[in-house]
Amino acid sequence: MLAVDLHTHTLFSQCGVHTHLEVLERARSLGIQGVAITDHGPALQGRVSGPFFDRLRDPVEGVRLLKGMECNLVGEDGEIDVPPPYLRFLDVVLLGIHYNTPSGLGSEIYTARLIAALARNPAVDILTHLNDPSYPVDFEAVARAALATGAAIELNNSKTALQRSPDELTRKLVRVVKEIGCRLVVTSDMHGINELGGDDAVRPLLTEVGVPAGQILSRSAEAVYAFLDERRHHKRG
Ligand SMILES: [Zn+2]
Ligand SMILES: [Zn+2]
Repeated sequence: MLAVDLHTHTLFSQCGVHTHLEVLERARSLGIQGVAITDHGPALQGRVSGPFFDRLRDPVEGVRLLKGMECNLVGEDGEIDVPPPYLRFLDVVLLGIHYNTPSGLGSEIYTARLIAALARNPAVDILTHLNDPSYPVDFEAVARAALATGAAIELNNSKTALQRSPDELTRKLVRVVKEIGCRLVVTSDMHGINELGGDDAVRPLLTEVGVPAGQILSRSAEAVYAFLDERRHHKRG
């Protein structure tokens, strides 16, 4: 079980099925210390709510509410759909390639767009599900770019648990991340509440590949919070 889960979806995403409070209450019952609500950005019709970002403060005692967004590539030059007025409220910015980007463009194009997005948007903290077979990328090139900006690469528990990504591809991603030495973070990418905090599907892989604990942000709440503190100036100036 994760101490802090940095990737979850609520009803504010089109694919979400739970309220914020349901997610946070579940976290409390599981002993999860912090949860980032990271609904999709506006390019995927995610709801960007002013009151959520501006006014909601830790509504469930004992669980730290982190505010995030899972952003999308828009256009071809590494532009992303983070709404600038909300950037200052964000604790964590995720970036993933989703269905608003056409599939079938090939690894070179997806890789170039992700690298451009990292260079152009220093607020991006975590690259999500690089092991999505619909959008192949050059793991090594992206991991080097992440190392340069300090961003982390996600190991997505749901993609493996739901078999949305072949194990061999995920193993390759973990091997490359270990080799390049950029930061790795395990998240649940929760949609169904039962998935919250889950890391069981990918934990054996970390052991098998032998990723050093110091490289894994999700090893402890302290490591996650230190990472977010380190990166806060990219959002709040
Ligand atoms: Zn995603
Ligand atoms: Zn997601």
